[in-house]
Amino acid sequence: MATTNSNAIQRICILGGGTAGWMTAAALSKVLGDRSIQIELVESESIGTVSVGEATIPQIRAFNHLLGLDEMDFMRHTQGTFKLGIEFIDWHKPGTAYLHPFGPYGANMAGVPFHHYWLKDGRQHPLESYCLEAMAARAGKFIPAVERSGAPAKQVNYAFHFDAVAYAAYLRKFAEQRGVKRSEGRMQHAVLHPVTGFVQALILQNGQKIEADLFIDCSGFKGLIIEKALHSGFEDWSHWLPCDRAIAQPCALTEPAKPYTQSIAQSAGWQWRIPLQNRVGNGHVYSSHYVDDDKALQVLHNTMLAKPEAEPNYLRWQTGRRREPWKKNCIAIGLSAGFLEPLESTGIQLIQSAISRLLSLFPDKSFAEETIDTFNRYSAFEMERIRDFIILHYKVNERDDSDFWRYCRSMKVPDSLEDKIKLYQRSGRIFRENNELFSDISWLSVLNGQGIIPESYHPLADQLPDDKLQMQLSSLQKQVQDTVAVMPAQADFIAQYCKAIGR
Ligand SMILES: Cc1cc2nc3c(=O)[nH]c(=O)nc-3n(C[C@H](O)[C@H](O)[C@H](O)COP(=O)(O)OP(=O)(O)OC[C@H]3O[C@@H](n4cnc5c(N)ncnc54)[C@H](O)[C@@H]3O)c2cc1C
Repeated sequence: MATTNSNAIQRICILGGGTAGWMTAAALSKVLGDRSIQIELVESESIGTVSVGEATIPQIRAFNHLLGLDEMDFMRHTQGTFKLGIEFIDWHKPGTAYLHPFGPYGANMAGVPFHHYWLKDGRQHPLESYCLEAMAARAGKFIPAVERSGAPAKQVNYAFHFDAVAYAAYLRKFAEQRGVKRSEGRMQHAVLHPVTGFVQALILQNGQKIEADLFIDCSGFKGLIIEKALHSGFEDWSHWLPCDRAIAQPCALTEPAKPYTQSIAQSAGWQWRIPLQNRVGNGHVYSSHYVDDDKALQVLHNTMLAKPEAEPNYLRWQTGRRREPWKKNCIAIGLSAGFLEPLESTGIQLIQSAISRLLSLFPDKSFAEETIDTFNRYSAFEMERIRDFIILHYKVNERDDSDFWRYCRSMKVPDSLEDKIKLYQRSGRIFRENNELFSDISWLSVLNGQGIIPESYHPLADQLPDDKLQMQLSSLQKQVQDTVAVMPAQADFIAQYCKAIGR
């Protein structure tokens, strides 16, 4: 007969109430809620949060599902819109644009990935014309699943844009309803066990002492426990990802919200445009080595679609990862565990995957080294592969308008990325390694969008006779067109199902 583990974790303290803190609190309260584990979250209103992080990737739907959230209710409370992908404007070179959609291109035939047939056909039609999500995005349309007479329902791959502050508030309510205790206060220092170095308590400025068995550091870039107290160390990736600052500033919505994010290359970085129901989130991400803050703000204002609606929010960071995101009895989740940059909207995904790793490897008070090592190994793998994918956007460019882009083009990239680029260049092949986050669809979108044309394609694609190939390609394009034709405009879908509260 199984016995209860007397070594079980009884108290968890989460430091920080940004997106990471409240996502963690919400998930732990849902999964551990009825196991008499106390969860306390400490945050300081006087410090505040980064208040950015408005675009997501489809994996967030699994997180919502874990919590049991009603998607439409969540959209209504967060000014949410739908996201079918990202458009990269001027990235390959000025005057170009391509989409990284969330859905597949065409269909594999005889076990050979679709894009090899498209290459064999001489790339006659744009790749995105074979992708439902891309064409729906271009048409401003959205519905979660499309029903057409005579055809099976077609599920659409999507994510969300939302107001990051409203999202944290929504999750806070969820977590507090499930017993999470919130304490207002500013942490001053951590008390460590004199022999083991484990964290025993956090001391707040008001003198309060918060003891726990497990500490989750969601304190943002500073990593107050994981770095300031436990000296986990930081692996710097700024030579590969040189953007280290951003200015975020919203403006009014002047046209129906697009169901996709826009990323516009600028001379020393890039700019995001994220349409919500009530406004557009804008931000200029740049390298302080190539442009100063005043000029960066000017660039943002020059390309904003309407007047700013709030003061600019200046953010600074160093790209890289915490060497040991789990050290002793502390786990860093969110910006405290490292940051790449927001280009592919991976911040919230990294929080979500760290939470799911924590739940799979949930410790007891013995904090077995093997458990900690496993968590850290998988965290490193995940971040390194995302890092490679983001570097790809910078490395493969034909822009010649600034030192920033020339630097990016000439920089030596990680071997793991160089191998992927070479493989595609030579043979059109893309391999997804283990459980890396971005699939071959994502890699193909960016490799092709940034202008790489493979020297050859899969030899087995030649087994399909040319006339049959033509028929298949036309039929796939027509299926996409017919499906998009019956989809509603995103604006109509939102008005009917998830109009923001108070609008
Ligand atoms: C410019 C930019 C754009 C981004 N865009 C995206 C995006 O589009 N999509 C995406 O997925 N991610 C994005 N991210 C990442 C995303 O914003 C973060 O992953 C997310 O907001 C999590 O932040 P956090 O909770 O770790 O940190 P923070 O929001 O900084 O929260 C830290 C918390 O710790 C508390 N705290 C700090 N010090 C103390 C103290 N001494 N005592 C008590 N409490 C303390 C603060 O009060 C706060 O509650 C972006 C990030 C940046 C910088």
